[in-house]
Amino acid sequence: MEDYQVLIGLEMHCEISNTKTKVFSSAINGYSEEPNTHIAPLDMAFPGTLPVVNKEAIKLALKASMILHCEQPEYMYFERKNYYYPDLPKGYQITQETKPAPVGSYGYLDFDCKGKMTRVRINNIHLEEDAASSDHYPTFSTIDYNRAGVPLLELVTEPDLRSAEEAVAFLETMRSIYQYADISEADSRKGQIRCDVNVSIMDKDKDPSDPKNWGTKVEIKNVNSFGGVRDAINYEIERQIALKEEGKYEEMQQQTRRWDEDTFTTIYMRSKVDAIDYKYFVEPNIPKFKLSSTWLEEIRSSIPELAPERKEKYEKVYHLSEYDATILVKEKNVSDYYEKTIALGADPKGAANWITSVILGYLNKEEMDIKDLYLTPEMLFDLMNMVKEGKISSKQSKEVLNKVLELKKEPAVIVEELGMKQIGDDSLIRGIVVQLLDEHPDLIEDHRKGKNTFDFFVGQVMKATRGQANPSMTANIIREEMDKR
Ligand code: ADP
Ligand code: MG
Repeated sequence: MEDYQVLIGLEMHCEISNTKTKVFSSAINGYSEEPNTHIAPLDMAFPGTLPVVNKEAIKLALKASMILHCEQPEYMYFERKNYYYPDLPKGYQITQETKPAPVGSYGYLDFDCKGKMTRVRINNIHLEEDAASSDHYPTFSTIDYNRAGVPLLELVTEPDLRSAEEAVAFLETMRSIYQYADISEADSRKGQIRCDVNVSIMDKDKDPSDPKNWGTKVEIKNVNSFGGVRDAINYEIERQIALKEEGKYEEMQQQTRRWDEDTFTTIYMRSKVDAIDYKYFVEPNIPKFKLSSTWLEEIRSSIPELAPERKEKYEKVYHLSEYDATILVKEKNVSDYYEKTIALGADPKGAANWITSVILGYLNKEEMDIKDLYLTPEMLFDLMNMVKEGKISSKQSKEVLNKVLELKKEPAVIVEELGMKQIGDDSLIRGIVVQLLDEHPDLIEDHRKGKNTFDFFVGQVMKATRGQANPSMTANIIREEMDKR
């Protein structure tokens, strides 16, 4: 490993999930369990149907292009990529090849990889349509056209990534961008993200900025999870190094492989020599059209605060630790939840504590998205307020939260039902304390000798009040009463 450097280039596909309809038809753009329900005649290539470009999809694609510091084209156009496959009934995919110019060219992205800022050059980002999906059974196959025509962004990086960690950090940053910029949910569990991974190795002492020095690239197709990307890259690096050591790397041809999750290996599919000729040409049914500079400006100014800016705000304005800020911005839905809670007037540090220490733990355990959590930001705010106003103790508030989640009832209702009011009545607490001290003169003696019996008395008061005594009040009263003796 020490003798080599690694070059990795990614082709990342991400469905645009935030348009109402598909990219060229009026069918709903949305996931459905029920096959063939979100479809229009065009998605099945019925004769006589014609594509109509979805303006919103172009807008979101341009937004991504701008965030990636790409050049935007003067004209929008599409091309046909011709090939036959059952999930592609037209016999071609409408896409954008890199000439004359796709929705974005020659940009870059700076991203954080384990605390180190790293830059990757973007070759291009283009807009295309997704294909249908097929399922195979022992004696038959089925096709579901729900996915056919869903807008898809393909982003192609230069081979600037140098390790599996960098590749995954880049993909995570892209997912965050797609979410924060309201382009896509970017959920790999829903199959919205798919990657092709290109890997090569070269000698350590050669200059990687000169393409002449690059090794032979191996493309690994359709890796569906970030963990898969990491494992596929690490496996491929090992495999290529082994070939090199055996003196067989030089004769290796450019090839396409696939990642096999069962064997944890990459498997040979085809050589680049047999590359398919897609016979690209400009899609004649979609006239090219000029992008007005006012529209482009409008799109540019619609780019919202992204994760790095939110993180900075959390650290500088809300004084959260870098660790907490990082956790809160990781998923946009979580960050939105946090911001809503604060907008209601909650203490930023307190709200961050609740979310990072209790709520995220629960979501993790239940494998749930914060969007589906019964506890709304309003309820969290109410709960925090009850503690602040001394209605319940902070210990009780944890129990209330668990019950809210379990029984799906609002915090106030739970507090009522559990008869959980914090006792802040001086004479009531004092009565209990006086009685306790009377019962345990030996412990007061121990206390005077320097032994800690204080916690015992606090515990007894809590026990007597079923945890409802105001803790700081209890502590003060015990101190006062002990001093009197
Ligand atoms: P192709 O013509 O096979 O599609 P491209 O030049 O378009 O190849 O590159 C496709 C992807 O492969 C890009 O992400 C690019 O960064 C990456 N790539 C190109 N050459 C190499 C290499 N030698 N090692 C690793 N990745 C590479
Ligand atoms: Mg290419």
